[in-house]
Amino acid sequence: MKFTRDEPSIPSRFSVDEALVLKLSGPGPRYTSYPTTPVWEEPFCQQEAVGALRRAAAVTTEPLALYVHIPFCSRLCLYCGCNVEITRRQDRVNRFLDALEREISMVATHLGERRGVSQLHLGGGTPTHLSCDELRRVRTALTRRFEFDARAEISIEVHPHVTTRDQIDTLTDLGFDRFSMGVQDTDPRVQALVHRDQTIEETTALFDHIRSRGVDSINIDLMYGLPGQTEATFLKTLDDVKRIRPDRLAVYAYAHVPWLKPFQKALEQHKLPDAILRARLFAHAVEQLSLQGYEVIGMDHFALREDRLNRALLDGRLYRNFMGYTDQRAGEMVSFGMSAISDVGGTFYQNEHSTKAYEKVIKDGRLPILRGLRRSAEDDLRREVIQSLMCRMRLDLDVLEAWTGRNDLSQHFAREWEALKPLEREGLCQIEERCVTVLPLGRLFLRHLAMAFDSYLGGRSDGARYSQTL
Ligand code: SF4
Repeated sequence: MKFTRDEPSIPSRFSVDEALVLKLSGPGPRYTSYPTTPVWEEPFCQQEAVGALRRAAAVTTEPLALYVHIPFCSRLCLYCGCNVEITRRQDRVNRFLDALEREISMVATHLGERRGVSQLHLGGGTPTHLSCDELRRVRTALTRRFEFDARAEISIEVHPHVTTRDQIDTLTDLGFDRFSMGVQDTDPRVQALVHRDQTIEETTALFDHIRSRGVDSINIDLMYGLPGQTEATFLKTLDDVKRIRPDRLAVYAYAHVPWLKPFQKALEQHKLPDAILRARLFAHAVEQLSLQGYEVIGMDHFALREDRLNRALLDGRLYRNFMGYTDQRAGEMVSFGMSAISDVGGTFYQNEHSTKAYEKVIKDGRLPILRGLRRSAEDDLRREVIQSLMCRMRLDLDVLEAWTGRNDLSQHFAREWEALKPLEREGLCQIEERCVTVLPLGRLFLRHLAMAFDSYLGGRSDGARYSQTL
């Protein structure tokens, strides 16, 4: 796939339309939620969260998705955008796990008979910072309070530099059947600049061991926009990863947000790739991965043509939540751990951002809520529009009117239709009277299409809230 306006669906000689990149570069959300987290209310009333869980408790037939955030890492990567605590102290882990067990119990009590689960994801941080016994402890705390569907998707993020074969064996014995490995870049110089040590041999050995345990869904994360990256180094990274042949890849843009993550300022002493170089790096990923049999799923996700995620895209069964793209429909997500985000009862809420605050509030017998938002009907309508564009690559007002029971959506979105016209001229989408179709080039710019429907954007603070879209 070329990164230009012409013949966008044909894998071809690499080229980048610099004018298009410069026109579209700027800050923007990633839309793992709508409304996005920066516009949520802080503080958020404890009773609002309890009310959301009680509303969710009434829908006993729908399975839940669960997320557990394990915040610990032993060393800080300078590009990190996650909520982490850097520690090697065992007492910190013990205190956190005590609080986590209590939180699971409190939330499950509010959920009453709503116990079915179709998805579980352990993220972080580094979930494999936990020992085998601690991983078992987390899984047991969940199975004690929830009932996992026999076909539930159970996934975890593993860091190749710190994860042992024993941990992988424990995890597969515990039912984990999807693994995601952070790689980012295999070039030793880039790794040194961002403080991440991880040889390609380590990554390959761990990958092979996970495969030998019968796991057929392994994802690798790469990152572009890091200091020291050039087209040559990134092509080498892509070449290294191609030989491992994961089922899925996520190729994320580095989000430079030093106002949120002050340690990222240390990267500014090196030259960070500009928008044009970032676009070239991503275009290399699109081209190389397409040639190797991967499909662009949406935004920064790729999957082998035969992978379930690609089949879900083709069948219109693709969904997006805080964990990215998934083929499992789990309407509501309940999350545990420091900074974890839940989506239940028409409400988003996020836990406290520091482990100390998280543990203290739980010790006081309350839910550790930092911020949240109860969505309005208008929020839910726009959320569905954004989901439709990002997951089904199409927005059909007839379908949306059938879903909402309204008959005025043409007028309601007249301004948004106008806002999409410049993007249509760039070849990102095709607009009809009642329908918008995302064109192949538009799959790389889904954030821009979604932004046309975001009624919270447009303030002067956008630049301070969001990372660069390119
Ligand atoms: S391992 Fe992941 S979560 Fe931990 S510091 Fe590095 S990037 Fe952040």
